[in-house]
Amino acid sequence: SIRVRFAPSPTGFMHVGNARTALFNYLFAKHNDGKLILRIEDTDLERHSEEAVNVIYEALKWMGISWDEGPNIGGDYGPYRQSERLDIYKRYIEELKNKGLVYECFCTPEELDAMRKEQLERGEPPRYTGKCRNLTEKEKERFKAEGRKPVLRFKVPEDRVIKFKDLIKGEIEIHSRQLGGDFVLVRSNGMPVYNFVVVIDDALMKISHVIRGEDHISNTPKQILLYEALGFSIPQFAHLPMILGTDRSKLSKRHGSTSVKEFRDKGYLSESFTNFLALLGWYPKDGKEILSMEELIERFDIKDVNSAPAVFDTTKLNWMNQVYIRAYPIDKLTDFIIPYLEKVGFEVSKFDRSWLEKVVEVTRDYLTVLSEAPIYMETFLKDDFEIEEEAKKFVLENEVRLKVVETFYVKVENLDEELSSEKFKQIVKEVGKELKAKGKNLFMPVRIALTGKMKGVELDILISLLGKERVLKRISNSLS
Ligand code: GLU
Repeated sequence: SIRVRFAPSPTGFMHVGNARTALFNYLFAKHNDGKLILRIEDTDLERHSEEAVNVIYEALKWMGISWDEGPNIGGDYGPYRQSERLDIYKRYIEELKNKGLVYECFCTPEELDAMRKEQLERGEPPRYTGKCRNLTEKEKERFKAEGRKPVLRFKVPEDRVIKFKDLIKGEIEIHSRQLGGDFVLVRSNGMPVYNFVVVIDDALMKISHVIRGEDHISNTPKQILLYEALGFSIPQFAHLPMILGTDRSKLSKRHGSTSVKEFRDKGYLSESFTNFLALLGWYPKDGKEILSMEELIERFDIKDVNSAPAVFDTTKLNWMNQVYIRAYPIDKLTDFIIPYLEKVGFEVSKFDRSWLEKVVEVTRDYLTVLSEAPIYMETFLKDDFEIEEEAKKFVLENEVRLKVVETFYVKVENLDEELSSEKFKQIVKEVGKELKAKGKNLFMPVRIALTGKMKGVELDILISLLGKERVLKRISNSLS
């Protein structure tokens, strides 16, 4: 049966690269009726906080990714946090010791540095020489008496070609001499390292496919040696292409936001964000780009993942977000927008809900991200505003323009019905006729009196949503 895992380290934020890895694992599992396991890899960390683990849960849930086994829900192969599996790792260390496949190494960081330097000077790639492989018991005792704490190294076979077939990268071959020498399995503080624990966990959790970022591809041969040493069967591997910025360098802070939370906070919808991530390195055969999670699952095939790097193009993400915003159910969109309004100080509860939804309806086409909503909605929500200098000058530099505002006001005041878009157009026409004003001289003064600005949404839409009373209030404020 198909079992995949997402195995993040709780660093306190979820990088988009990790988010893409999680998504591809999820799509692969769902497409193949398999299971997704969430495993928290927290042995490399000095300390791990609940909060950092929650960041992972939150990011996944927001993206619409669910898992079948994990720390918070359990499962048959737990515990799912590496820090709770230390006893398990010890058992396998013992096994490797009994098989004579590991040894204690007492080299200090200074000695290792010196070794590396010498090798570089000779033009050789740095590798651990195996200096401590054959220490006598006496030598070990002496080091221990000096207070040295050993690491445990794995004996890498001298002359072996390690081969595996990556589902994305194809056939990969590496010679054991290229692995940098005998590598560390347990640190001097007793903590086992990633390359070791990942093998134990993937094997015991019966992972069938290891799908992860390309940055781990150099670890895979080492892990294969450990699978073999412990007699575990080897899973299939699929290494996802790197994610680059539009300048073709590795995606980093320099390119802007890199964590899921940042995108969420800016007001990307989870649907568009997830849809966008799915297309980082994968493309559906039918070329359809706007795809729901269901449609992604249906189409996803790991064999169609590209081995070339993917480019994180924010322009494309923005386009997608616009597409989703324009098609989103208005009540949900309004729910998502409200926090952004509150954040800039609007007391949203004083507005009628269905009125607010209408405002969202007429402004959503302007939005790229939801955090921009206050900019476009403000003109509907706020009756007191400053008139911009340029706008003030515009009205005052020509007598007729001021007269337009006054006449418009009187006509609206005398209206004995609500101010609809049609009514508004009719009144403006009358004002224009009476004062012989048209175009800019007619509409702009009204706009300025109503908004304080020379640009903005369509006036008839604004007015129909404001209603007569608020229109009068705004104009009288502006005139005073
Ligand atoms: N904890 C590792 C990471 O976050 C997992 C790598 C793997 O999937 O093997 O990069």
